Amino acid sequence: MSIKITEAVYRKKNADGTELVLYLGPSDLDKESYESIYRDHLFCPHPKCMAKLIFVSGNVQVNHFRTWRKSETEPLKGLHIEGCPNGIEQEESERSRRRRDPSYKYNISDEHMSSVLSRAYRAFLQKQQSYGPLKGGGVVKPDGVGGGKIDTTLSPTGTSALFGEGEDVTEGREPPIPVRKIENIDDKDIGKVRCIVGEVLKFYWDEEKKYAYINLKTKNSKKVKVHFNERFEANNRPQFRLFGFLNDYIKHLEKNNTPIICCCIGELNMNKSGIDARPDRYSAFSINNKKLYAIVHEVRGSVN
Ligand SMILES: [Zn+2]
Repeated sequence: MSIKITEAVYRKKNADGTELVLYLGPSDLDKESYESIYRDHLFCPHPKCMAKLIFVSGNVQVNHFRTWRKSETEPLKGLHIEGCPNGIEQEESERSRRRRDPSYKYNISDEHMSSVLSRAYRAFLQKQQSYGPLKGGGVVKPDGVGGGKIDTTLSPTGTSALFGEGEDVTEGREPPIPVRKIENIDDKDIGKVRCIVGEVLKFYWDEEKKYAYINLKTKNSKKVKVHFNERFEANNRPQFRLFGFLNDYIKHLEKNNTPIICCCIGELNMNKSGIDARPDRYSAFSINNKKLYAIVHEVRGSVN
């Protein structure tokens, strides 16, 4: 296993040239403060070592620090000085680590999400046209060639994480995001990141209460919805304010009797009323293959 580091130094240059130096333990940070304050400013605590560290948190792992992965653009970023006890993990490449640990969590990039969403949408349409309703598995090929980041020689292993709970992929392809039609979601998908595809039944949006739902049509009694909860609102505040356009767009499609297909990448959760897909960012869903800003653009265009 790569080394879990239990202390980090936060270094930040002040405007007057002095440096703020703080020694931190993993319990001094959480996901939010890491993203907003500490990210990019954490270093190895060993004297004179200036290797950069990242903060790792999540449900599965105990909070800790790790060395920033070596990257081609910044080869020195994660380099410990000779003799630094925290430098041992550099012996191991990302490639071997992934091979050994397929459950390792990786953050999903926006590009990767985009390509999975488009592919899911196209596959959904094709299946409907050529074979009628999709039977069985409903698994659209997980992440074929192209999506996300390069180096297709590396097989896509690892597990996709949302909400910044994983590490950034610096080498090779991003982990696959399995696609599920609503009817084919099963127990094994709960708690995991999936791309779900289905027809919109109803959109519900409460700007005051800071949440929104997209209810999806199901053929059985199982209720499935995309749930934009308060956490989503907090992390996507400017975009959440644009949800009125989403409302108008869906109303417009309903009026024209156009099928409304929603694709969404989110963590699946089970609750009393059914299954929720919780996206972490506004770019994690599409309506008829349009993302939020394209929808805003279209609605504005039709008005003017
Ligand atoms: Zn070090």
